[in-house]
Amino acid sequence: MHKQIFLSVIGLFAINSLSAQWTPKNTEWYAPVPPVVKPAAAPGQPPSDAVVLFDGKDLSKWETLKGEEPKWTVEKGEMTVVPGTGEIRTKEYFGDCQLHIEFKSPKPGEYSGQMRGNSGVFLQSIYELQVLDADDNPTYVNGMVGSIYKQSAPLANAYTRNGAWQVYDVYWKAPKFGTGGKLEEPAMITVVLNGVVVQNNYVLQGGTEYIGLPDYKAHGRMPLMLQDHGTAVVFRNIWIRNL
Ligand code: MG
Repeated sequence: MHKQIFLSVIGLFAINSLSAQWTPKNTEWYAPVPPVVKPAAAPGQPPSDAVVLFDGKDLSKWETLKGEEPKWTVEKGEMTVVPGTGEIRTKEYFGDCQLHIEFKSPKPGEYSGQMRGNSGVFLQSIYELQVLDADDNPTYVNGMVGSIYKQSAPLANAYTRNGAWQVYDVYWKAPKFGTGGKLEEPAMITVVLNGVVVQNNYVLQGGTEYIGLPDYKAHGRMPLMLQDHGTAVVFRNIWIRNL
């Protein structure tokens, strides 16, 4: 113990004497120069290098899980889930990314809990950030809006009200797999809902399972997927930046 303290003191002394010889320039660098990204004129709109996945006009960037044209509707700049027509995914594949997506829950009708305004943003088609109406709609907290489904409840309920647009900004670090598909780095996510952090660098335990425990299966870049959970959830202004 005493030896350790002695060595620490010697170490600090060595670092201090070394730092004393440094100039400010020793810790400044000039290359590589970060690329210029022109921010959008209005907050929430895509910056210059974003891949715009839905600009309100059509679903040309999307397909069904069978690779067919999606049957979700597009009207007035919004896309709406047509219940029973299935999930849709991007034609393009993504890894680490920044994602912006806005959604609106349909009128509740007689539905409650997981049946009310359920959809999902599936990062890399595997990891679900829940989309759900949280307007006076109790459910299990690790399945509410802002949750990483059945893994992590949100830090706060930042949902506003049924019928109002909700805004997700997502920062995604894809899992990394090594030889033989061995997990080297788990996925990590930060989620901001309506300007409020609801997931703060949460480290995922694997895919988000409905039944059973999460687990990782090796994969590379994957499409972004949106869920058809039987309710007519509406989306708009979807863009993504590769990181
Ligand atoms: Mg869902």
